[in-house]
Amino acid sequence: MNKALGKLIVGFRRFRDKSFHQENLSYQKLVSQGQTPKTLLIGCSDSRVDPAILTEASSGEIFVIRNVANLVPPCEPSGEGFHGTSSALEFAVVNLKVENIIVLGHRQCGGIRALMAEPDANSKGFIGQWMSIVGQARQKVLADHAQSDDETKCRFAEMESIKISVKNLYTFPFIQEAVQSRHMNVIGVYFDIERGELWEFNQSNQEYRLIN
Ligand SMILES: [Zn+2]
Repeated sequence: MNKALGKLIVGFRRFRDKSFHQENLSYQKLVSQGQTPKTLLIGCSDSRVDPAILTEASSGEIFVIRNVANLVPPCEPSGEGFHGTSSALEFAVVNLKVENIIVLGHRQCGGIRALMAEPDANSKGFIGQWMSIVGQARQKVLADHAQSDDETKCRFAEMESIKISVKNLYTFPFIQEAVQSRHMNVIGVYFDIERGELWEFNQSNQEYRLIN
């Protein structure tokens, strides 16, 4: 076994002995009663932005979807292709009846970097097609911030793409329904991994504000 795997196994043993066996009341409850998370969080697969670590959430507290660049695709017919993100959205909203949906974007996102690079460079792989969900973010940033350096453009694109994902959430009928009938919250936030800051997207004025 290599070093990286060995470290994970050691970590599991520690978790099993301490969290699971010594402080196991919460796990017993989760096993016997099932999960009842109140929040669905859509985060990036990036290893540095684990939602449970960033929010100090406990097991059973947040239902998490992680994909490249924390994107929400628009609602498409379920009969075509495979829809991992949409399936998880449906399960969280329809079955678990979560009270909140959070789209969590972040600084230094590799998916956004690929989007902002030459589109032809990754058009053949899965990533290019996936990132086309937020193609409008790229166009907007290139038009509005033509003079900015590449890193600044990426920062703006990361924030713009959260807006698109939030907008796309409303294309799912079951999400619209949950917002209207039971006031489910839809929230966009941006984690600046360089500054340790969290910014919330305000859907009314389309601006971000720093969360203290
Ligand atoms: Zn990312």
